[in-house]
Amino acid sequence: MDAIRTMRGMEEFVTDEAALPSAPGEDEHPALALANSAVALPGGHRADLLGTPAQAEQWLARRDLAPADAGLAEVCATQLRSLREQVRSLLASRVAGQPALPAAVTAVNDAMTRVPTASLLLWDEKTGPYRATPHPTTAIVEHALAVIAADAADLLTAPAAAARLTACASPPCNRFLLKHGRRQWCSTRCGDRARAARAYARRTATD
Ligand SMILES: [Zn+2]
Repeated sequence: MDAIRTMRGMEEFVTDEAALPSAPGEDEHPALALANSAVALPGGHRADLLGTPAQAEQWLARRDLAPADAGLAEVCATQLRSLREQVRSLLASRVAGQPALPAAVTAVNDAMTRVPTASLLLWDEKTGPYRATPHPTTAIVEHALAVIAADAADLLTAPAAAARLTACASPPCNRFLLKHGRRQWCSTRCGDRARAARAYARRTATD
């Protein structure tokens, strides 16, 4: 593994996806996973799972959004990171109950409609008619962006998901999650840090 590890005090921060467990809801919603692919960590650190084209390729392949050998270029990783910022902006607006930035709405709609996603009628000379979604290799990233954008639209509008959408309540974490019950943080690590911060605040208040 080419995980980049940074030692800081007793804690170790890792930019490897395996060491950054996915937040609740990410497995069902690639848009949530995309939004959470850049994480603010304690100590002013930041982990970006789409930092390089190779990382972006791995990230897409792990979600079956691209073949493992897609050969992504920097421009593709940039497109993904750009959609990430727009999706993050929309999720933040939704959580805050604020109007969305029109540019973010446009970006999601553009990503959804840039490539054909309809399953077309095709006719094989030997085997006859069948349906398939055209998926040119030149448009691998555009296809992935379309799938993620459509999922973002679902996530924002489906009542069951939208009602559970929240931001992790453990600063400086900036991830989003779909709440189960009262849990307000994206990971055990964030929950532990929030509890430790509360205990520290109680101690200093009584001292
Ligand atoms: Zn968190």
